[in-house]
Amino acid sequence: NTFTEIDLGQGLNDNIQRCKYVKPTPVQKHAIPIAVAGRDLMACAQTGSGKTAAFCFPIICGVLRNRFQTAGSGRGRSRMAYPSALILSPTRELSCQIHEEAQKFAYNTGVKIVVAYGGAPIVQQFRNLEKGVDILVATPGRLVDMIERARVSLGMIKYLALDEADRMLDMGFEPQIRKIVQQMDMPPPGERQTMLFSATFPLEIQRLASDFLSDYIFLTV
Ligand code: AMP
Repeated sequence: NTFTEIDLGQGLNDNIQRCKYVKPTPVQKHAIPIAVAGRDLMACAQTGSGKTAAFCFPIICGVLRNRFQTAGSGRGRSRMAYPSALILSPTRELSCQIHEEAQKFAYNTGVKIVVAYGGAPIVQQFRNLEKGVDILVATPGRLVDMIERARVSLGMIKYLALDEADRMLDMGFEPQIRKIVQQMDMPPPGERQTMLFSATFPLEIQRLASDFLSDYIFLTV
């Protein structure tokens, strides 16, 4: 019933304390241990349930863990960004909110988080990417644009979170989402961990889950 019971590492635990989170919400209590153990996950979560932390903690934890193994792997002078985690969200507002929270969770860890959304100049977002990115928070349309302009590669993605998946489908983002996930499935096939969060589970969401997740745990709280 506390965050310290889950082994998230010292840096993340300090930041959780700094954020004054003491007790995990139900979705956090169940989703975080499953995700930290590396399992794919489909979770029913409403706004306000604490879902942002539920997918951010395991992602930050994983990025930090992998950092030890891949530290120093130079990526040359290419302008292509290679995030190792992607969080897709339906709107600019939600993306900015996730970005802000994730930065608090990753404070002082060296994990770099960048946000990209439509309706704002792409050039500034390119500049942010050039400074380095571990976790990219993005809306689907803007991300496809960046991929097509060869400024983002999803070839290194190890963690994918889809937030408010039902809302993304309602907004007509399914083709973009499928295109994005296809990029990650291109050879060489890396192992990717996927977490899908949605308030509702109509047939289209179940189809996304069976297409994108493997051997996943279904969580309703
Ligand atoms: P979310 O559902 O992720 O948008 O979170 C809703 C609000 O609850 C945000 O303001 C979070 O900062 C806050 N929150 C999330 N988890 C916790 C927690 N375990 N303890 C206290 N506040 C939390």
